[in-house]
Amino acid sequence: MNLELSEEQEAVRRLAKDFVAREIAPHVVAWDRAENVDRSIVKKLGSVGFLGLTVPEEYGGSGGDHLTYCLVTEELGRGDSSVRGIVSVSLGLVAKTIAARGDEEQKRHWLPRLTAGEAIGCFGLTEPGTGSDAGNLTTRAVRDGDDYVINGSKMFITNGTWADVVLLFARTNDTPGHRGISAFLVPTDTPGLGRRTIHGKLGLRGQATAEVVLEDVRVPASALMGPEGKGFSIAMSALAKGRMSVAAGCVGIAQAALDAAVGYAAEREQFGKSIASYQLVQELISDIAVDVDAARLLTWRVADLVDRGEDFATAASKAKLFASEAAVRAANNALQVFGGYGYIDEYPVGKLLRDARVMTLYEGTSQIQKLIIGRALTGVSAF
Ligand SMILES: Cc1cc2nc3c(=O)[nH]c(=O)nc-3n(C[C@H](O)[C@H](O)[C@H](O)COP(=O)(O)OP(=O)(O)OC[C@H]3O[C@@H](n4cnc5c(N)ncnc54)[C@H](O)[C@@H]3O)c2cc1C
Repeated sequence: MNLELSEEQEAVRRLAKDFVAREIAPHVVAWDRAENVDRSIVKKLGSVGFLGLTVPEEYGGSGGDHLTYCLVTEELGRGDSSVRGIVSVSLGLVAKTIAARGDEEQKRHWLPRLTAGEAIGCFGLTEPGTGSDAGNLTTRAVRDGDDYVINGSKMFITNGTWADVVLLFARTNDTPGHRGISAFLVPTDTPGLGRRTIHGKLGLRGQATAEVVLEDVRVPASALMGPEGKGFSIAMSALAKGRMSVAAGCVGIAQAALDAAVGYAAEREQFGKSIASYQLVQELISDIAVDVDAARLLTWRVADLVDRGEDFATAASKAKLFASEAAVRAANNALQVFGGYGYIDEYPVGKLLRDARVMTLYEGTSQIQKLIIGRALTGVSAF
């Protein structure tokens, strides 16, 4: 793997840095306090091409490779994880899955709008009773003539209240476990689909996280993605790539923690000297720096494997596991460098820590990543 970025990759990275400086950084504290990112950011992300990365241009995408996608995701994560999450879900989990597994009509209908930021996607797998054990979900889709009628509820759905379409996973037959699960593209304005915002999150406060309830939601059979009973494999391949995107966002958090800690340590004086001169402060900073480099390299390796068409799922679990734990450590170390000021939201590191904390939980907890890695190494499944 060549670690030197191409001119094009450097250019997109600069574009992302400028975008974050102009459109995100000035608003981060206000959005966090208001628990609401300004929705106009979605159109802006679409216009600059960030919602179409890796999606073929014939469907409105902006093409590009997965390393470029990771570079943009890292920069967005450095700016605001709430905004990064909009892209990771609407593009990473929904649009990319439609591009990979949808039929021609589904691609033509959804991709141009999703990549332009004219529509937003959300990913409906988790339910109140099934998180890690997603293969036992209970939402049900029953065939009725040319339609399916869906009943059930979905929990913790990122973009949930904003989304125009939900990539929804529901059980279509009584086969126990994941074999009875199918995937559907359900427009959120379909009668019977209700959404409730989940308030009081520790982090990602600006993000529209929701519970989605489905009561006799009727969709045509053309809403089915892929064959009946193959929905779980669609969900798992979406999440494997999604873990690369979460890992890249975590690199961004860790990098932001490093930048903030270095900057503050240089300015702050105690005992008549810059705190940067104290070796114990340097230890905190160097620990963050090593975490940033290691997390970034693991993440780039996944992008490289994806772009070369190699197996990447285990590498993605390793990157997500390490980068998410590293982001929490990095933000916590940076907060320590800031002392009491780190605890106040006028300074960035408290938010970095709050936002980082969910990364070890969603798209598979750290424990689940370890089980996936362990299964790949031993050939024995714990699930
Ligand atoms: C802010 C936020 C956004 C989210 N966005 C989405 C979204 O867009 N779409 C979506 O579908 N979901 C989403 N989720 C859900 C997320 O993926 C789940 O929360 C996650 O998969 C964990 O499920 P759970 O919360 O039910 O925890 P549980 O599965 O109940 O786990 C609880 C604890 O038990 C541990 N555990 C469980 N099983 C095992 C095992 N076999 N071995 C060892 N330990 C185990 C877990 O690691 C964890 O520590 C989101 C969650 C949050 C908080």
